[in-house]
Amino acid sequence: MTTAERLARRGVGRIEIRGVSKRFGSLTVLDGIDLDLAPGSVTAIIGPSGAGKSTLLRTINHLERTDTGFVTIDDELVGYHRDGHTLYELKEAAIRRRRVAIGMVFQNFNLFPHLTVLENIIEAPVSVQGIPRAEAIELAQDLLARIGLPEKADAYPRHLSGGQQQRVAIARALALKPKVLLFDEPTSALDPELVREVLDVIKELATSGTTMVIVTHEIGFAREVADTIVFMEAGRILEVGTPARVFTAPSHQRTREFLAKVL
Ligand code: ADP
Ligand code: MG
Repeated sequence: MTTAERLARRGVGRIEIRGVSKRFGSLTVLDGIDLDLAPGSVTAIIGPSGAGKSTLLRTINHLERTDTGFVTIDDELVGYHRDGHTLYELKEAAIRRRRVAIGMVFQNFNLFPHLTVLENIIEAPVSVQGIPRAEAIELAQDLLARIGLPEKADAYPRHLSGGQQQRVAIARALALKPKVLLFDEPTSALDPELVREVLDVIKELATSGTTMVIVTHEIGFAREVADTIVFMEAGRILEVGTPARVFTAPSHQRTREFLAKVL
């Protein structure tokens, strides 16, 4: 049995999204989203700009408060759940604790500019998870080797290329040993020649058994790594299926139109 299969059998990283809606003023950005993602699955979310993809990703780790509905990971509520007039809300400390089990990689890397690569990676494990510094450093060095940057531990982010910074951001997310990893257009801020090195790191992770959700415009990549494709438009999920099915025989006219534009 591979590690991925073992983790999947243990059922770690199951995401349940139920009836999630979100408005910004008069704009409905998420409109009744239901989605179940299996432990160890790799899901690519595609769709036009403004569809609500980033907002949905941010509700999974409660960076965004939903108006209705809820998200659980392995049956644990991530943020809060409004059920009629009853509000179940976790305390801020509990939200923080649960959030660290959810790694997030942003479009613009979001590394701390005043910290070295190593310090960026060990910051949350030491300060949030309370892992001894020496242990965190050892783990960080293993991760730097894994992303192919073992010699950059003491460099500052501004001295790295965009692709290198994004690989460090991925290592930083991994240092928290997340159950779930979220990527929001991880390559769209990169020069074209730097895209592949980041996709290769993500592709390698996709075999690790960690549940992954990737918002991406890289359709070829989505097809390569994802087992599930979700197509979103105007705050709704219009289509969910395997890459083979969605890319070759989309069941929705809007999916066909979108793919005709991006492929
Ligand atoms: P996508 O990632 O699919 O491009 P987003 O989730 O970023 O879409 O945004 C969906 C819609 O919500 C867009 O119209 C965007 O302008 C709007 N939006 C996102 N965040 C905010 C916010 N904090 N305040 C107001 N409107 C927002
Ligand atoms: Mg977005």
